[in-house]
Amino acid sequence: MPLIENNVDLQPYNTFGLPGRASRLVRVRSEDDVRSAIAHPELGRMPRFILGGGSNVMLTGDVDALVVKVEVPGLKLVETREDEWIVEAGAGESWHGLVEWTLARGLPGLENLAFIPGTVGAAPVQNIGAYGLELSERFESLDAVELASGLTRTLDREECRFGYRDSIFKGDAAGSFLITRVRLRLPRPWRPLLGYPDLSTLKEQGATPSVAPTEVFDRVCTVRRAKLPDPAVLGNAGSFFKNPVICARQFSALIEREPAIVHYPLPGGDYKLAAGWLIEACGWKGRNMGRAGVHDRQALVLVNRGGASGRAVMDLAAAIQQSVFERFAIRLEPEPTVF
Ligand SMILES: Cc1cc2nc3c(=O)[nH]c(=O)nc-3n(C[C@H](O)[C@H](O)[C@H](O)COP(=O)(O)OP(=O)(O)OC[C@H]3O[C@@H](n4cnc5c(N)ncnc54)[C@H](O)[C@@H]3O)c2cc1C
Repeated sequence: MPLIENNVDLQPYNTFGLPGRASRLVRVRSEDDVRSAIAHPELGRMPRFILGGGSNVMLTGDVDALVVKVEVPGLKLVETREDEWIVEAGAGESWHGLVEWTLARGLPGLENLAFIPGTVGAAPVQNIGAYGLELSERFESLDAVELASGLTRTLDREECRFGYRDSIFKGDAAGSFLITRVRLRLPRPWRPLLGYPDLSTLKEQGATPSVAPTEVFDRVCTVRRAKLPDPAVLGNAGSFFKNPVICARQFSALIEREPAIVHYPLPGGDYKLAAGWLIEACGWKGRNMGRAGVHDRQALVLVNRGGASGRAVMDLAAAIQQSVFERFAIRLEPEPTVF
């Protein structure tokens, strides 16, 4: 049975730096650890809160649940196929560490997703994405312990039902599975993905045929460092709201009223709007409500100015949602999981 800790301070375990204590916390390093924890006569009956790196959670107070901190280790190349490599990582590994590990071994394909905080096991939960690439495009399968039965199941891409910052683990199966291992497919030969504006200068320099995966990695890291606040300095959880997607009818009514609105047409006829633009248009960029604030360089990122409570951040989020709804008739949806 893994060690159980009582009355644990969770502030160091969430990148927002929000206060909150866990009545019980257990660290799991294997599937057997997970099974022991859920079979425990007392802990097995408690509600559970699965925690990775805490970079996409909002703590609104103390957690009267068993916090299961996922620390499953391991990184390996499991298969070399003619057209792809398959790598496998333990759910507790750092996502960025995995990206570095693959590149150091000449296994490119994840570089556009560099510098995203958090663990490998949480990456499928919200189908992480950045710089023109989503996890689902590199996903092979995952292993997860079904918490009701203790059985290990392997889920493929279809079963994970990936969507924009979404998967079955945020929907029908929320809280039902603890992901222990993730396998990714890295296509061979490697081709750079430089469609995203911040990466297009690599292309303009005529570098496309000769650009190295590490150059893309370096550029992504540099741009992200410049644009996003470092959680070690200013607590945050990255983008606080999802970019809303609206249908063509709603979009044509909106663009007539708001011709400057930033939008991206999607293949099915819908439109994605930039949530950060909507928030900035409502005058929120750089503003504070108590100790919670809106980042001064990126309105999509809410920040802890020091000493904010989860409730204060949620109040700010609600005020922003209200403004955006009043002006654009669009309901912004938070991206982090709220506990
Ligand atoms: C500065 C900053 C920048 C960011 N940039 C991006 C970005 O570009 N793109 C992006 O997509 N996200 C981004 N994020 C959000 C975040 O990094 C990702 O969502 C990340 O995958 C969360 O990982 P985590 O280990 O910290 O998960 P946690 O915050 O610990 O958990 C997130 C959710 O996943 C669940 N979970 C965690 N581990 C497991 C597991 N093993 N099994 C089952 N459920 C689990 C939790 O219960 C919770 O619901 C950013 C965050 C920050 C702070």
